[in-house]
Amino acid sequence: MKVTEHIKSAKSTLFTIEILPPKKGENIDTLFSHIDSLMEFQPAFIDVTYHREEYVYKEMGRGMLKKLITRKRPGTVGICAAIQSRYNVDTVPHVICGGFSKEDTENMLIDLDFLGIHNVLILRGDPVKSEPGFSPHPEGHCYASDLIEQVSNMNKGIYLDDELLQAYPTHFCIGAAGYPEKHFESPNLETDFLYLKKKVEAGAEFIVTQMFFNNQVYFQFVEKCREFGINVPIIPGLKPLSTLKHLTLLPQFFHLDIPDALAREVAKCKDNTQAKEVGIEWCVQQCKELIEYGVPVLHFYTMSKSELVRKVAEQVF
Ligand code: FAD
Repeated sequence: MKVTEHIKSAKSTLFTIEILPPKKGENIDTLFSHIDSLMEFQPAFIDVTYHREEYVYKEMGRGMLKKLITRKRPGTVGICAAIQSRYNVDTVPHVICGGFSKEDTENMLIDLDFLGIHNVLILRGDPVKSEPGFSPHPEGHCYASDLIEQVSNMNKGIYLDDELLQAYPTHFCIGAAGYPEKHFESPNLETDFLYLKKKVEAGAEFIVTQMFFNNQVYFQFVEKCREFGINVPIIPGLKPLSTLKHLTLLPQFFHLDIPDALAREVAKCKDNTQAKEVGIEWCVQQCKELIEYGVPVLHFYTMSKSELVRKVAEQVF
């Protein structure tokens, strides 16, 4: 089923999760065991992230280093297919611009369609870790909106090769990312809304937000989206804070604010066990308020670990 159909037919707030593919060299069993422990909350769909290639340097002896390119977390498409077959739960693979030509993307989308995976979350993708900013593949897309347009075209039977007449139209339900606290590269929130609207006009049917710890920023984001004519469902992304270091790491990596009240509570904690308890309690309260507001879905960033999300879900669902 498509994400939008799940939302339309839901009788109460849906529980959904995002997972990461295991690191290259690890098997899939650990990931399955974490999903197993969240299955009692009946996830409506499971997102699987996509990780672009990275540069690594290999010692060649005599002080020589060789620059190699590797993908440390491959397997997104395979994991999506494996989850659908093992749990009979819909999956949402993330599809990114970074590192892919348009042709690579078209072929990946064909694989997804053949596997019966009909939801995608379309993203520009993070920059290569060792590079200061995002640079697109020479034959690829610069922005998520351009990639969304490619998928929308395939949904109309328009493939890259214009000689492919009467090509099969795919049926992807397309999602896009939204940033309640602004995408860090955007000059301001207004500009960010214009580009978000562009993604919806290109074919995005739902939005998943970056994590946030202050529900007010989500409420204002939704209000502003509606003012801008962005009327698709906006799924809030949530993550329980779980270590003392998260106080500085989360703002650094995800460009968000930790509310003062939460920061003060965490600062009082003696260790990560206490910080985890504070983080879980904060997340539970966030969820309860979001449900009351009427959000369609609560989407949890699990980082492929089930313990924290399970503790939150037990008190919310
Ligand atoms: P875009 O929508 O393309 O926006 C990028 C920037 O460009 C923004 O500042 C925007 O305002 C600006 N912009 C957009 N369109 C235009 C235009 N036409 N002209 C000029 N400027 C424009 N990263 C991964 O690598 N893999 C993942 O699996 C992944 N999953 C994610 C899931 C969620 C829910 C979220 C919120 C983020 C995820 N990310 C992932 C991170 C994401 O790739 C980065 O935040 C990235 O920097 C932006 O992606 P985007 O799709 O929002 O980009």
